[in-house]
Formats: sequence, C-alpha cells, structure tokens
Amino acid sequence: MENWSKKCGFRTNKELNRAAGVSIRSVLNMLMENLDGADSRPIVPLGHGDPSAFPCFRTTHVAEDAVVDAVRSAKYNSYAPTVGILPARSAIAEYLSRDLAYKLSPDDIYVTTGCTQAIEVVLAVLASPGANILLPRPGFPYYEARTAYNNLEVRHFDLIPEKSWEVDLNAVEALADENTVAMVIINPSNPCGNVFTYQHLKKVAETARRLGILVVADEVYDHIAFGSNPFVPMGVFGSIVPVLTLGSMSKRWVVPGWRLGWLATCDPNGILKNSGIVKSIKDYLDISVDPATFIQGAVPQILEMTQEDFFSKIIALLREDSDICYDRIQEIPCITCPHKPEGSMFVMVKLNLSLLEDINDDMNFCLKLAKEESVIVMPGCAMGMKNWLRITFAIEPSSLKEGLERIKSFYQRHAKRQ
Ligand SMILES: *Cc1c(COP(=O)(O)O)cnc(C)c1O
Repeated sequence: MENWSKKCGFRTNKELNRAAGVSIRSVLNMLMENLDGADSRPIVPLGHGDPSAFPCFRTTHVAEDAVVDAVRSAKYNSYAPTVGILPARSAIAEYLSRDLAYKLSPDDIYVTTGCTQAIEVVLAVLASPGANILLPRPGFPYYEARTAYNNLEVRHFDLIPEKSWEVDLNAVEALADENTVAMVIINPSNPCGNVFTYQHLKKVAETARRLGILVVADEVYDHIAFGSNPFVPMGVFGSIVPVLTLGSMSKRWVVPGWRLGWLATCDPNGILKNSGIVKSIKDYLDISVDPATFIQGAVPQILEMTQEDFFSKIIALLREDSDICYDRIQEIPCITCPHKPEGSMFVMVKLNLSLLEDINDDMNFCLKLAKEESVIVMPGCAMGMKNWLRITFAIEPSSLKEGLERIKSFYQRHAKRQ
C-alpha cells in the first residue's frame, strides 16, 4: 500500500493533457453532453465531417467489393511492411500522378492509418529541438494537438476571409526565421470551404522556397471541389519547393472508418531524400502501427476501378448542400458567411453577438444551441477563431434544412429586443 501511494502521482505525460485539450473530439463530447435528453427530435450533426451514416452518402459498391475480395483472397492475412504493401503504394503513386507533370514512384508513398497518422508522422519527424512550424488560422486542431505533444513550436499565419480565405503571405514571411521547418496548408480547406487557385498555390510555393521551408499539403479533400476553382495539388509545384502531401480515402470515398491514408513525398529534385527526412519517416513508421493489411490489399481495386459517376454524385450532393447552407445562412441575421463554400464539407461563419440578448461567446452559443435545439456546430475557438462558427453541410439535404431552420428559431428566441 505504502509503495502504491508514493507512486500515486502515477507520472503521466503532461503534454498529452495539453494536446488533448485542443481536439475536436473533446469539444464535440462537451456539446453532446450538453444535449437536452428530453428533446425527442433527432440530433442534427453539423459539427464534424463524417456523412457516411447517411444513405445518400454511402460509398461505391466498387470499394465494398474490393474489401470483400481482399479478405476472401486470403492474401492479406499477414503483417504488412511498415511503409505499406507495394501494390497499395504503387496504386497511390499512380492515383496522385494523374494530376502531376512528373511521376511519383511507390518509394514516394507511405501508407498510413488515415490522414490522421500522416499528420502524426510528419509533425513527429519535423519536431527537432528548437524548430518551429507555421500553421493556418483557422485550421484543423489536430495539428495544434500533435505539435503540442511533440514540443514543436507553432506560429500561426492568418487565412484572409475577405480574400476568399487565401494565405496571408506577408504574415508567413514575417513569422519565419532560421528555425522554421515548414508551413502547412489545407486545400480544399477545412474549416473554410475554399479551394486555392493555381496562382495562389504557386505564390505559396515561391514564398516557401525563398524562406527555405517545406510545404506540408493536407489534401484529404482532394477533388471535393464544386465551385469555379478546380482542385490543384500542391505537388504540381514540387520542383519549386519540396512538398509533403497528406491524403486519404476517408473523405472522397466517404469511408473514414476504414482508416486508410497516405503520405507522399512530391519532390522531383530529391531534396527530401538528401535531407534525411525520408529516413526519419521510415524510422518513425518502424515504431508505429499500420493500417489493416486487407484494407491495404483493397486499395488498387478501389483507386483504379471507382467510376466517375460515383464521384460526380457526391460532388452534386455537396454542391446542393452548400447552396442550401449558404442561402439559409442569409436568413439568420446573427451569422454571416464571408465566402460561399466551394470545396470540402465546411463553412466558417462570423457570429454577431451584438444582435443576441444572452449569448456571450461562440462556445456559449454552441452549448445553448445543443441544449435547446439538439443541433451541433463547432465553436470557432476550437479552430483559433473566437466568435466564429464552423458548420458542416455534408449531411442529408433535408436534415441540413431542418438544422438551419432550428438555428434560425434559436436566433429569433435570443435576438436582442429593441
Ligand atoms: C478529416 C481530416 C483529416 C483526417 O483524415 P482521416 O483520413 O480521417 O484520418 C485530416 N485533415 C483534415 C483537414 C481533415 O478534415
């Protein structure tokens, strides 16, 4: 007993508490706990981007068949190499090369447990003592969580709402110093819903080159673009600046639970190989867990056989959703949308607290909205933007209408009286 109690600090990793505190899941859990159990209406989940439960977002039978075939073949019951099995890496190299003027080789690809693990790997590899990294604000909080965990210093640059959420490149120049290792961009953007133009991405590449830093391009929403800007992968500029591209099947195939992602080195000049980063990626993967081998086994069939009509159906659905979302937001005076979404599954809206009677900030808004209307939206503070909200429109259109209708009546009930 004596020994136990002495040890009962049970020393734990303090960075872990700090890191977990800034996760989407911790905020979502808090909102879910705040729901009113007596509300018989269904919850409208506008908080996180996982539409897979809605029948209209069901993945293609091509993907389902590929997994079944992989299991039944009995070829994928073994441990996989830590970088991933060769057929999966070849298929991913082929898939990403479709959009590039040069060809990626299987050696440029690392199969990861979702895009999430690709982020984990990159941030662990870049976290040398004294280093810092530039992250977008608003952003995707998992980056903040992993940098905190790795003791990697973060400096934020703004995305500018009035300029269709483009990167404030002057801020990037001002923030970077000799210890800056990389900047992160997320395109199509979570949480902003914009898609960067070719011109803007080229400027990002040129800025990074001038500063001598890498670009980490989170392209988990690759090709989920339904406005006027087509999706352009950052790897297109790989000969200007080395790019670490992160992606997954989670969003485009609507199967986030399959946990299949990748990390690609888009670096035709071989700078990453010479710098030791490639070796560090392999070392890190040697001490991590891999995605299930049969899911890796299904990858070639999924990437090669998925028909265009599946993708266009999903895109049409998201375009319809984004139109509904944008139009209905106009009817709710206390939120304004600076930029109509044209990609990903999200939009950022600004909260005007002066129109509300008894709401003091974005978190308070979200907690009361959950309690009174059973609608979940993310407070902007979780993304580094206090008094903004992030709304996902990627759900069944009729539920989306219902959710926005409830936000409207919530506003009417809380509106400041003259
Ligand atoms: C969803 C998401 C991820 C995580 O992708 P998984 O493949 O589900 O791990 C990473 N980055 C961004 C910006 C995301 O929205």
